[in-house]
Amino acid sequence: MGAVKLKTKMFYNIFMKKLVEVKHLSMKYPITDGLFGNIKGYIYALNNIDLEIYENEILGLAGESGSGKSTLGNSILKLITPSSGEVLFNGENILSKSKKDLKLFRKKAQLIFQNPFMSLNPRMKIFDILKEPFIIHGYKDNKEINEKIKKIISLIGMQEEVLFRYPHEFSGGQRQRIAIARALILSPEFVVADEPVSALDVSIQAQIVNLLLQLKTHFNLTMLFISHDLNIIKYISDRIAVMYLGEIVEIAKTDELFSNHKHPYTQALLDAVPVINESKNEKKVILSSELPSNENLPTGCKFHSRCPYVKEKCKTCEPDFYDINIGHKVRCFLYEEKN
Ligand code: SF4
Repeated sequence: MGAVKLKTKMFYNIFMKKLVEVKHLSMKYPITDGLFGNIKGYIYALNNIDLEIYENEILGLAGESGSGKSTLGNSILKLITPSSGEVLFNGENILSKSKKDLKLFRKKAQLIFQNPFMSLNPRMKIFDILKEPFIIHGYKDNKEINEKIKKIISLIGMQEEVLFRYPHEFSGGQRQRIAIARALILSPEFVVADEPVSALDVSIQAQIVNLLLQLKTHFNLTMLFISHDLNIIKYISDRIAVMYLGEIVEIAKTDELFSNHKHPYTQALLDAVPVINESKNEKKVILSSELPSNENLPTGCKFHSRCPYVKEKCKTCEPDFYDINIGHKVRCFLYEEKN
C-alpha cells in the first residue's frame, strides 16, 4: 500500500478482553433435487471453526474465494444462521438471541459490504440513507440525529452538501465512504468489513483503508477485515487468520505470519503475491490444482490434494492445531512432533 502508515502496533496480553468468541461453528447448505426437493447432499461452507477476536484489534481473514470467509463474517453477525456452534459477543450467544435482543446486537455490530454500488439505496438521498438506522432503532431526537449525520460526514472527509444528493452522483470511492458512514453512524463496537476495497480502483483502495484505520481509532472499533489481498490484509491487520475450505489453518500476529508462516497453504498464498527483487533460489509453493469442491470435501487434511509435503497420514487423519509461538497456531502434521 503506497500510503502514509496510520497503524499503531497492538500489544497483546493475557488481560485482553475477547469481544467475539466463535465456538465449533459449522455451516452446511443442503443441495436439493427433483420436484419434492429431496436433499441429495450438502455444501460444507464452515467446518468446526474456533476463533477469538479481541477488543480493539483488527483481525484479518485471508484465503481464496470459496474458502468460507464471507460465510464466517455473515455467521458472526447472524445475517445467516449457522448449522451448529456458538458465537459469543461480550459473552452472550447471539445465535440464541430473541428478535428484540438481536435488534440491540445489530446496533453494536455492523457489516461493511464489498460493493458500494449495491449497498446504497439508489432512490434515497444520502441524508435519508444515513438517517435510516436511527429510524430503525427508534431514535426520536431530530436535532441529535442531524448533528450525528453532520459529524459522520465530516469524519469520512466529505462536505455537508453531499447529503442532498443521490448515490449515483458519486464515484465508487465516495460511495464506499458513504456506506462506511452508514455502518458506523450508530457507533457500533464491532464491524465486519467484507472485501471493502476489492470493488474499487486500486488508486483509491489505500484511501479507504486509511479511512477505516482512522475511524477504527475514533470509534474504538474492533474489526474483522476480510480480504483475498494479502498486501492489504498485512497493512491493516493486527493478527491474521488464514482460511482454507471452511477451516482456519493458521493464525498469528501479522508480523509473525509474514516472517514465520508455517502452513503450506499460507506459504502458497504468500508465494502468489508478486515481490520486487525476489530471490530465484527461494523454494516456492505453487498451488497445482483448483480449490476442491465444498460438496465433496477431501478426507484427512483438507489441503492434502494440493500440498507438496503430503504424507500418507494426511490423506486419512485430520490435523489438530499445533502451537508454534505465543498466539501462533497451525493446523498441519509437519509441526506435530514439535509440540
Ligand atoms: Fe500438507 Fe499434511 Fe500439513 Fe496437510 S497436514 S498441510 S497435507 S503436510
